Amino acid sequence: MVDDEKKINLIMALRRQGITDQRVLAAIERTPRSLFVPETFMRHAYDDSALPIECGQTISQPYVVAFMSQALDAGERDKVLEIGTGSGYQAAVLSHLCRRVYTIERYRTLLTEAQARFDDLRITNVTAMVGDGNKGWPEQEPFDRIIVTAAAPAVPENLVHQLKIGGIMVIPVGKEADVQTLVRIMKHEERVEETELMPVRFVPLVEGVAREL
Ligand code: SAH
Repeated sequence: MVDDEKKINLIMALRRQGITDQRVLAAIERTPRSLFVPETFMRHAYDDSALPIECGQTISQPYVVAFMSQALDAGERDKVLEIGTGSGYQAAVLSHLCRRVYTIERYRTLLTEAQARFDDLRITNVTAMVGDGNKGWPEQEPFDRIIVTAAAPAVPENLVHQLKIGGIMVIPVGKEADVQTLVRIMKHEERVEETELMPVRFVPLVEGVAREL
């Protein structure tokens, strides 16, 4: 099967699993996941599974990317912050759904490669930096939407602070490696509302910038 066919099959599988947002499905269709996985896994680029990338990290499962993008409900005028650039795949999908994506990664190697992919794909509305995502991006706050693609032991206060009133954050929360819950946070004027969405498995959100590359 050629990539286009595999991609169509993936889109159909996502639909069957309850991804109904047409904008999200279209964004996934526009994003060639084969460019975001290491050469050795190219054959599996359109399988609905997470795959290893450099620095011991992973590119998320397409279903999880679709589900999180749908839960984030980003509009075309929205400014979105992503924590955990990784391969850049989730950021590339988001770039087709909102006005601008700011994304933070603690490994320079991953960030440089992700940036090269954005350039290849002529994606110009993603700004990426090396940093500790726990701190958010204070120079660019407030954000309409925040998506965290690594599991946090607790929701980082800085991120809640940098979310607009009326904004939504989607974040996997859990102290242990194999039990995490994807949580949606809605920031209201007076309170922060949390909804548990589904069990997930992410690499941990680590403190600080990586010392190795
Ligand atoms: N969104 C990615 C998935 C990345 S996996 C994709 O679509 O491919 C999670 C990423 O979060 C890893 O690359 C990891 O290095 C990064 N990460 C973990 N803790 C972090 C932190 N404190 N700040 C920034 N990035 C972090």
